[in-house]
Amino acid sequence: MSDYRVLLYYKYVHIEDPEKFRDEHMKLCQDIGLKGRILVSEEGLNGTCSGTVEQTDRYMEAVRSDERFSDIYFKIDEADGHAFKKMHVRYRPEIVSLKLGEEDHDASKLTGQFLDPVEWREALEDENTIVLDARNDYEYDLGHFRGAIRPDIRSFRELPEWIRENKEKFMDKRIVTYCTGGIRCEKLTGWLMKEGFEDVGQLHGGIHHYGTDPQTQGEKWDGKMYVFDERISVDINKVDKKVIARDWFDGEPCERYVNCANPECNRQVIMSEENEHKYLRGCTHECRVHPRNRYVEEHQLSREEVAKRLEAIGESLPEKV
Ligand SMILES: [Zn+2]
Repeated sequence: MSDYRVLLYYKYVHIEDPEKFRDEHMKLCQDIGLKGRILVSEEGLNGTCSGTVEQTDRYMEAVRSDERFSDIYFKIDEADGHAFKKMHVRYRPEIVSLKLGEEDHDASKLTGQFLDPVEWREALEDENTIVLDARNDYEYDLGHFRGAIRPDIRSFRELPEWIRENKEKFMDKRIVTYCTGGIRCEKLTGWLMKEGFEDVGQLHGGIHHYGTDPQTQGEKWDGKMYVFDERISVDINKVDKKVIARDWFDGEPCERYVNCANPECNRQVIMSEENEHKYLRGCTHECRVHPRNRYVEEHQLSREEVAKRLEAIGESLPEKV
């Protein structure tokens, strides 16, 4: 039995005074002793947080006691400790950043058809259905549904434009989308319908729900699921799991994400521990020799030691200017 839990949840519902709600919600979380990241907006609530079993029980009860959230669905992971260092509750104009601006719509009124895990598994097998990953490329690269399309985007808000550019490929087919917990799809599928797509579906509760469903148990999911907390990734498939992610440097199977040590790059890169040491945790030569390389700082490497490591991979330090 784990002592801690991580909660993942959201709801699109109108919040009259989100700034007041934010302050009260922050107080609630601090009183309970939770840690996590919560966004509040006129359009709803979106959060991930961690705490003990007792703390998370208290929190869920408190949230559900507000009638706007009486039916909110909490996805629960067992954990060995906190998944966050601090507690943040922030106001944002949107609870997921899609930046639709003038074209924005109310996701509580317009959204695609919800597919339960078993219906979703059927959709994965249907050749007239396009399965679109509604997440970022680095999330896809760590794990995704077998056969899903990977939009070539770094960030969710680029997705509408990408879809418009590729529209003719999907227009006459059924299109279904998925994301981590369902929140991105709830907004995106409504947008797809406004865009003229007629048969639009989404995975209800997201990948997380699919992985915990007793019937599907994550079947046909390859790799791991990226999460936005200190765990970085979690397992989904309990039936036929395989590793699909590859080490940035040598292409070997690997599921270990770290941030590039160049603070100005900070890109998430998949690499083994061995290669992290070998390449000074830098994704390119420029990142490896960056004057503020965090790996070099953390390990207090001398200039000579850095030069030696670089030499081993056929590189050298730039001349001092
Ligand atoms: Zn880099």
